[in-house]
Amino acid sequence: MDEMSNPAAARTPAVDGTGERAAGPRAPVSPHFPERLIDGYRAFLDDRFPREQARYEQLAADGQSPRIMVIGCCDSRVSPEAIFDAAPGELFVMRNVANLVPPYSPDEGLHGVSAALEYAVQSLKVQHIVVLGHGRCGGIRAFADDGAAPLSPGDFIGKWVSLLEAAAGRAGGRGQGEALPVFVERLALSSIEQSLANLRAFPCVHTLEASGKLGLHGAYFDVATGVLMRLDAETQRFVPAVSELPKRIRMIRAVGVEA
Ligand SMILES: [Zn+2]
Repeated sequence: MDEMSNPAAARTPAVDGTGERAAGPRAPVSPHFPERLIDGYRAFLDDRFPREQARYEQLAADGQSPRIMVIGCCDSRVSPEAIFDAAPGELFVMRNVANLVPPYSPDEGLHGVSAALEYAVQSLKVQHIVVLGHGRCGGIRAFADDGAAPLSPGDFIGKWVSLLEAAAGRAGGRGQGEALPVFVERLALSSIEQSLANLRAFPCVHTLEASGKLGLHGAYFDVATGVLMRLDAETQRFVPAVSELPKRIRMIRAVGVEA
């Protein structure tokens, strides 16, 4: 949907130089259920649901059995179902700020990511887990930019993205004179690798991967170009997921990424 057909988007403040939308003053909102969602639901009933009704009925009768878990970011521009053209029941998706997998911590804390992971691996028996990072991630930037104002007035985001310290160490920290956007992208890639390492610390994941029954993968989606990179298991480098890109798609150039 573009801004012409979405009046709400047209009213949204322009994207600033960082790729993030500048926060404008908060306008009064209607207390009613969002009309945008009602319109979208009508479109779903008119088109997608009739086409996929048999699939929904089958999924209702048999339950879900997705083969792939995707751990992605909450960012509204990076929907795994859209990027991978997934049908209902195909992907088990867990999204959080900056697509992070915390370390294995079997303690008294409440661990939402670990609960979703445990369910996917031990109950649904997924065959693959994909950590999907992305370009221009606000969560990564919040950690990387020491001088930036916090993303929110509360403490939750700052504490959450402190998980990136391990990834920053893995990346060797920000280089002398390294531009912030370059470091943010490098940290995003390093964070994917760190999340994969954290996944491997979960005993059930470690055992299943070692026995060849579970595959772990990293991927990175560049919002600006639509290019998807995947972490190559042999070279441990990010490489294009497909070689036959449409001509209009430019390859990204970033440290740590092979174009
Ligand atoms: Zn993000």
